[in-house]
Amino acid sequence: MLSTAMNPPEPLPFPDSLCHRCAAPPKYVQTRTSTFILCPLLPQKYAPQPVRACSLFRPLAPAT
Ligand code: SF4
Repeated sequence: MLSTAMNPPEPLPFPDSLCHRCAAPPKYVQTRTSTFILCPLLPQKYAPQPVRACSLFRPLAPAT
């Protein structure tokens, strides 16, 4: 069964991935055993993780 969330799950998959700090924003798709990071901007949807550089990356605005 799949579930999709906007909030990062625990444990965070690929904690050093740029996606977690991206304003895209990515969604987190969870199966029973894995979490996938779904990018709304990339045509291929799932970037190879961890993403360390991305031309579409925009920093998430800090919470106010
Ligand atoms: S735009 Fe790049 S950094 Fe942002 S969520 Fe998509 S793949 Fe990750």
